[in-house]
Amino acid sequence: MLIDSHAHLEDYEDLEEVLKRTRESGVRKIVASSYNPETALKALEFSFKYNFVCPTAGVHPNNASEYSKSFESFLKENSSKLVAIGEIGLDYHYEPLDKALQAKVFRAQLSLASQLCLPVVIHMRDATADTLDILKDYSLKGVLIHCFNGSVETLVEVMKRGYYVSFGGAITFKNAKNFKELLRRVDKDKFMLETDSPYLSPEPFRGKRNEPKNVALVCKKVASELNLCEDEVAKITSENAIKFFGI
Ligand SMILES: [Zn+2]
Repeated sequence: MLIDSHAHLEDYEDLEEVLKRTRESGVRKIVASSYNPETALKALEFSFKYNFVCPTAGVHPNNASEYSKSFESFLKENSSKLVAIGEIGLDYHYEPLDKALQAKVFRAQLSLASQLCLPVVIHMRDATADTLDILKDYSLKGVLIHCFNGSVETLVEVMKRGYYVSFGGAITFKNAKNFKELLRRVDKDKFMLETDSPYLSPEPFRGKRNEPKNVALVCKKVASELNLCEDEVAKITSENAIKFFGI
């Protein structure tokens, strides 16, 4: 039993087949991420159609200008169907960027998540210090830092705060030295597996379109690094996802 804790489903023209393969490969649930109002609505619609898809809704920092009052109403109206607010956060990687706007939109969604008692899925890229600073200001049901690829120091800090992290295809890349250490240091009750499909395919599919079934390859890599069997890693990470998302 596996759970893909982060995938984007809206761009698959052959979604039926992708999901069929996913189910046949033994993946039990997919947490469907979104990055703007349009994809949030789609994630929600997918969850109506496929009961193993669990929707999250949020505006990604690179889409901050799309945040609106009507999106806030959407979040409030659908809060009982959402498993988290996300993905939200800060991304200082791409120019041009408006840090003030990103922070404003991030904060607005954090306070909403706190009000609605929903956990948050965080996207954090080249913005670790600011993201962690802002998060400190909110009392949240749960925090998951997705696609974690920070330093050991950052991992120690987020574990201290009781946050969760998820690992994706990047841990299978040949130059991924840091992950060995991260996997050894992560609290075993605080990590999950993800694909970030259709992006970031794990080896041996690096560069190709990713699918949620490939979460099994991430699981395999984690198991070999930790000297655990794959079933055990699948069990631990699925239990963590079930607890975090309440699914
Ligand atoms: Zn994502």
